[in-house]
Amino acid sequence: MQVGGPLGGFLAADDLDVPLSERALAARGAAMGHAGLVAFDRDVEPLRVLRHVWEFADAESCGACSPCRVGSRRGLEHAAAGTPPGPEYGRMLRLMAGASLCAFGRRVPDAVRSLARAYGDRLAGWEGR
Ligand code: SF4
Repeated sequence: MQVGGPLGGFLAADDLDVPLSERALAARGAAMGHAGLVAFDRDVEPLRVLRHVWEFADAESCGACSPCRVGSRRGLEHAAAGTPPGPEYGRMLRLMAGASLCAFGRRVPDAVRSLARAYGDRLAGWEGR
């Protein structure tokens, strides 16, 4: 389940018994955002969801800072290629989280990581450690 909009975060099916509070969601790497909830059934391809997150990041990044502008484009390229990225992907996520100028760019890595955690083996390699 996607919580809080495109960059809010994702919860796995066995992790839905969680209070809808900022604190409880933050403990699972998610955020309340605009409080929207979107449930995906088992037929939705996880890589397609991942690509959607990166498409959103690339489309909505204002481009004022390079960690978010370049990172969002590179993330989308990786997701579009569809093969688990190498160690540079983890470095890119850390750079986005630590050096983006505003919460938008800093939030993208958490959303991507929570999605990878939610799908487990089906998105192995996409958590970007
Ligand atoms: S982090 Fe914020 S300021 Fe930087 S490019 Fe992204 S949206 Fe713009």
